[in-house]
Amino acid sequence: MKFFKLIVFDIDGTLTRSKSAIDTEMAELICQLLDKYKVAIISGANYEQFKWQILEHLSCSSDKMRDLYILPVDGTVFCKDEDAWVCDSDTPLSIEEKELIKKSFENIFERSGLETPKKIYGELVEDRGAQFNFSALGQNAPVELKEKWDPDNRKRERIIGVLKSVLPGLSLHIGGTTSIEVTKSNIDKAYGLKKLIRRIGIAKEEILYLGDHLLDGGNDAPALTLGIECRSVKGPEETKKEILELLKYKS
Ligand SMILES: [Mg+2]
Repeated sequence: MKFFKLIVFDIDGTLTRSKSAIDTEMAELICQLLDKYKVAIISGANYEQFKWQILEHLSCSSDKMRDLYILPVDGTVFCKDEDAWVCDSDTPLSIEEKELIKKSFENIFERSGLETPKKIYGELVEDRGAQFNFSALGQNAPVELKEKWDPDNRKRERIIGVLKSVLPGLSLHIGGTTSIEVTKSNIDKAYGLKKLIRRIGIAKEEILYLGDHLLDGGNDAPALTLGIECRSVKGPEETKKEILELLKYKS
């Protein structure tokens, strides 16, 4: 077992089920991990979502919280707990880029040869500043429906195939359970992780990354390009097992 100093997690499918809060066991395990390691959480989600999915459920002591780094929207936002959460953000997408992205998703199911969902729950495309997030069943769809919609990513691969030609110069990644993340090119988790490495001054060999979408096209895959150790998990229960192992190996 390597001697890691920083453990990095994705959220949806890794610490929680899609767009759900962490459970009490996971919250407790994160606090225990913070006794021994630095912890970072990176996701396409915005800060508000980090708050209700993760931060509001952590009851670790305040000195431990200083070793927790939060990287919303793939690290285009970077937050640290300095008695209160302090975040800084990159420049958002331009108005022209935003218009182009919104337009590119019009009739997207039809254009991709997919059946249009019978009901869309909330917004289909959400503006997150430096990222646009497409959720195939809407941003507020029930997790049970979402988990059934595209378990093998094939529908989203088809949609990305169609979008690529109309969104040159932008990056497209499969995220969450039904989502596609659109960002300026080169904005992905590797971008956020590089920012994190730079800011906290840590060696790549000291980092372990855990995510559920490390395979081709997944939104965790960019982490592999950095040469840090990455482990694939199938869901929160597997992540808990990994955390318990990490807790055993460091006194
Ligand atoms: Mg995930």
